Amino acid sequence: MVKSMKSKKNVYFFGAGKAEGKAHMKEHLGGKGANLAEMTNIGIPVPAGLTISTEVCCYYYQNSNKFPSGIQAEVNKAVAKVEKVMGKKFGDSSDPLLFSVRSGARASMPGMMDTILNLGLNDQSVKGLAEVSGNERFAWDSYRRFLQMYGDVVMGVQPEGKDAHDPFEILLARKKKQKKAKEDNDLTTDDLKELVSEFKALIKKTTGRHFPTNPKDQLWGAIAAVFNSWMTDRAILYRQLEKIPDEWGTAVNVQAMVFGNAGDDCATGVAFTRDPSTGKNFFYGEFLVNAQGEDVVAGVRTPQPLTRGAAKGTGMMSLEQLMPKAYKELAAIRKKLEKHYKDMQDIEFTIQNEQLFMLQTRSGKRTGAAAIKIAVDMVSEKLIDKKTAVMRVSPDQLDQLLHPQFDPKAKKTVIATGLPASPGAAVGRVVFNADDAESWKAKGEDVLLVRIETSPEDIAGMVAANGILTSRGGMTSHAAVVARGMGKCCVAGCGDIDINYKSRTVKVSGRTVKEGDWLSLNGSSGEVMAGKLPTTQATLSGDFGKLMGWADSFRKLGVRTNADDPEGSDLARKFGAEGIGLCRTEHMFFEGSRIDAVREMILANDEKGRRKALKKILPMQRKDFEGIFTAMKGLPVTVRLLDPPLHEFVPHEDKAIRALSKKIKMSPKAIKARVDQLQEFNPMLGHRGCRLGITYPEIYEIQIRAIIEAACNLKKKKVKVLPEIMHPLIGTVEEFVFLEKLTHRIANLVMKEKKIKVDYLVGTMIEIPRAAIIADEIAEHAEFFSFGTNDLTQMGFGYSRDDSGPFISKYLENKILPSDPFQTLDQGGIGKLVSWGTKQGRSARPNLKVAICGEHGGDPASIYFCHKIGMDYVSCSPFRVPIARLAAAQAAIENPVAKKKKKK
Ligand code: PEP
Ligand code: MG
Repeated sequence: MVKSMKSKKNVYFFGAGKAEGKAHMKEHLGGKGANLAEMTNIGIPVPAGLTISTEVCCYYYQNSNKFPSGIQAEVNKAVAKVEKVMGKKFGDSSDPLLFSVRSGARASMPGMMDTILNLGLNDQSVKGLAEVSGNERFAWDSYRRFLQMYGDVVMGVQPEGKDAHDPFEILLARKKKQKKAKEDNDLTTDDLKELVSEFKALIKKTTGRHFPTNPKDQLWGAIAAVFNSWMTDRAILYRQLEKIPDEWGTAVNVQAMVFGNAGDDCATGVAFTRDPSTGKNFFYGEFLVNAQGEDVVAGVRTPQPLTRGAAKGTGMMSLEQLMPKAYKELAAIRKKLEKHYKDMQDIEFTIQNEQLFMLQTRSGKRTGAAAIKIAVDMVSEKLIDKKTAVMRVSPDQLDQLLHPQFDPKAKKTVIATGLPASPGAAVGRVVFNADDAESWKAKGEDVLLVRIETSPEDIAGMVAANGILTSRGGMTSHAAVVARGMGKCCVAGCGDIDINYKSRTVKVSGRTVKEGDWLSLNGSSGEVMAGKLPTTQATLSGDFGKLMGWADSFRKLGVRTNADDPEGSDLARKFGAEGIGLCRTEHMFFEGSRIDAVREMILANDEKGRRKALKKILPMQRKDFEGIFTAMKGLPVTVRLLDPPLHEFVPHEDKAIRALSKKIKMSPKAIKARVDQLQEFNPMLGHRGCRLGITYPEIYEIQIRAIIEAACNLKKKKVKVLPEIMHPLIGTVEEFVFLEKLTHRIANLVMKEKKIKVDYLVGTMIEIPRAAIIADEIAEHAEFFSFGTNDLTQMGFGYSRDDSGPFISKYLENKILPSDPFQTLDQGGIGKLVSWGTKQGRSARPNLKVAICGEHGGDPASIYFCHKIGMDYVSCSPFRVPIARLAAAQAAIENPVAKKKKKK
């Protein structure tokens, strides 16, 4: 454990056009701190402040929540500089310098950690603030906000129970009711003074402690609270989801306050330099007059749009109309920031007495569709090059685009319309809290999470839900921002619906929707529809094709698909698959009525009986292959011969056994006896894969015959075919040699019968560790390898593929494993078998084609690895083909030297 500080400097000042930090120092200063420094350096108006480094946070956690020695002096020194720039003193009661204290990790974690505003106020300085601002109401409003935030975040005065309300908000609501005030802003100075006393009393009553009046104590309490918020459950969960290491820690930004709530010439807002939902190049944002930042995010007041265009038809005034000077400045900063960062930015600003200040800029979170549009547009605007554009879209984001939308022809009953906060289609049953969303989902239900507004506590429920619907909040509310990041459909701020948590109902357009009722959400239009609407395949934009084309020009790895029917093959080809890398023939055995013939074959007592049943299977298999070969239009198709243990195909229940008995004319008793005989203690390590082909060669003979007959028939019709016959679960050279001979014998026989020759390859899966180790010997015979990393992981780790879920999740929690090795290839162990196998295989056969067809073939991190070791292609499910194309391109851009020319 690192108990000491690595770096001598832990506190970085920024202000008056000069900063000690820079944009590239995110690791040390967090994203917010680094960008505040950068904005300061490029001449953007930023209130002065200081950033305490992430290293201090790490030290804090490694030393039982203690601060490193010397940090106070460093902070004091930086505070003195801020005082100088701002011309005010921290702790002064006549003209106080107030601070905001905000978290800022290396990667953005919106809303996950804590913030405190107006720090430095107390019973004396509130009067000073009233005096210098000439606005007593504003001063007391700032004080009550500070008490509320400090009481919650630092002193722990929080709601009890999942549906309970914030105790400060209860007092605030009561006060508004008493005073007949519609909005917070309708409360008078006297009302606010009363609230301040009530808040102080609440803090004392709940915590037994007085609210600290000394600004220095307030400051250190707030700094500790921000560090503590790094380890709250919600922050930990968010990091797990976003794969952000706990060790990074957060920085703390202590910044001079500027006030958006000091009158009607003040405002605060958030904006994106382009539309984060669609990627359109227009200035997209929201603001509130006379408000502080938390008002915008909380979604209690409905924010107004920035531009005149966006305000049109809403009945609202835009910032452009209300404060044209500040808007003009903001619009210029938007351009400057995009030019400087060369990316879409998510910004926060405050206008104090018509003077604009920037409080944050960061790369904006965006939907997959927006990521593509922005990347492609920025290339045509000459802001970035094609390589950068390809790197800008995360492969996982493509997933959102490839998933279904509502069928436009379906009849829909729109019962309400909210804001289209995050696109996509979601159908599910209504639940009203995050816990229910999780438990219903665990029972296999599709759910929609319906909340008045969401908070970071709801994150696990948001993950579990298919979509999110809120009655309050704007496009930048918590629900909207988080859902967009997750690529999850969200309709926010749907004021038409009246949610009652107690009765678990929603009243909407004269009807009552109860818990468990079905609703459909359109996150692209904001429509809420009754019932369960059918969905259709997403259509991909021209920009998608353009970006994928660029990706293809950079990648060295080929991309194939795992498909075993003509529909899947066709879809994958349209998604850009360059062939089939794994056609699992066993899936075909379950199709329609053919399972009866398959069962007859398995249950037969001898070879004669098996051959009789296999004769029935042959024409069906041949037709399957003809369909797939035709769909792939001359691209290579790797067909893997039968792999699973036979007992997976036979019936086990009496009723099914009786039904089969009638069909195949075998007594139930005889069937049962044979089924029992097939039972194995360890089927995954039992009679399966090539072991079946060796013990019952007639099975593989029929499959090979079906493949070659299909190829010959199609060749006669001038359809190009490239079959590759793949043997599963090879562990010894002798196994492969046996099956290779069998393959050639049958293929030659068929070609003779058909009087035509077709090209085909014979290769093997490498999925047993022994096969990887003796890969050079196998490659003397095999023409290609495909790493079956599902079984290789199973056998390499000794973790059962089917039983490892429970302990792997515990291993992940306890950091025994960094990730699930069945999802992301374990590069340190299983990956070594793969790279060794590849190297050895190529040492014996330099042109050996090497691929991967386990689930890892569609996982971006594993694809990086496959690129690095010089594989020829990856093969993955059809929907992951575009993801693999992009990941392969990104791997090639980051590791340009890795490989020779791409092979298909
Ligand atoms: C593998 O083991 O990685 C593989 C692709 O085969 P299956 O998943 O069918 O066992
Ligand atoms: Mg396998």
